[in-house]
Amino acid sequence: MNSARLSASIVLIFLSALSAGFYSDRALAAKPLTFNELKSIAQPFPEPQPGSWQFEQKEPGQTFSQYKAGRPVLATAKRKVIYVQILGRMSDSQKAVVSKTVEYLGVFYGLKTQTLPPLDSSVVPISARRIHPMGQRQFNATYICEKVLLPRCPEDAAAYIAFTAEDLFPDPEWNFCFGYALYKQRVGVWSLARNGNPDDPDEVKTVLRRTLRIASHEVGHMFSMRHCIAYKCNMNGVNSLEEADVTPLYLCPECLKKLNFATKVDYVARWRKLEKFYSENGLEEEALFMQKCLGL
Ligand SMILES: [Zn+2]
Ligand SMILES: [Zn+2]
Repeated sequence: MNSARLSASIVLIFLSALSAGFYSDRALAAKPLTFNELKSIAQPFPEPQPGSWQFEQKEPGQTFSQYKAGRPVLATAKRKVIYVQILGRMSDSQKAVVSKTVEYLGVFYGLKTQTLPPLDSSVVPISARRIHPMGQRQFNATYICEKVLLPRCPEDAAAYIAFTAEDLFPDPEWNFCFGYALYKQRVGVWSLARNGNPDDPDEVKTVLRRTLRIASHEVGHMFSMRHCIAYKCNMNGVNSLEEADVTPLYLCPECLKKLNFATKVDYVARWRKLEKFYSENGLEEEALFMQKCLGL
């Protein structure tokens, strides 16, 4: 190594030591936001536009006080595990999306997760299937919840969720549904069929984001959280994939309080883990928001 390169290396090492010191000082000095301070970085709920969920449904929202007064379903010492199970055949890339989603639910709710052995599609009889006019096979989600999942729901389940690659419909009147749940009974089933193609490198992040959003949103309902109209929030109702894709994965301050009440999660530790998860999975906007929450 010549002397010019040697001095350059020394400068580089010195700079990286400085920046490492700076980073750790910054991390040490970081002051996570309080619930009240969170309101200053929360995004306002958008004016409902024709076709959006809120424009059609005109829901009243749910404040934290209303949530508490409604005697919500809570995680308890006896019911503190989120169980996840694959129903029917799934490609390896779809299984990878489900596996990431299980990890995410554990971090998002601060609860233990457990994956159960897959269920064969033969648990859904011919009478609970149909062929959609566009040609795809569909399973009856109501049947799956009531007849397949409910009898198998583990005693200690805070939530018991099945994921399937099959398209779903809730009853014969409906065209399709992304998922369906019996909230008070802690069971639900979600389909990956309309989330995109995880084998396409250009789509895999979108498929993951959609699956993370629907899974975390629906488990929120299982803890009695209603649709949020306070801010832009994971618990906003959505009418379409387009609307879902511009809805954040994270919770607004009002819904975060509800989650904290339901699961007693340490919310700062949760932000740290979520920041890591979002960063590792290329979800930059969400990672940045977690950094703001952490005061970084
Ligand atoms: Zn919902
Ligand atoms: Zn909210």
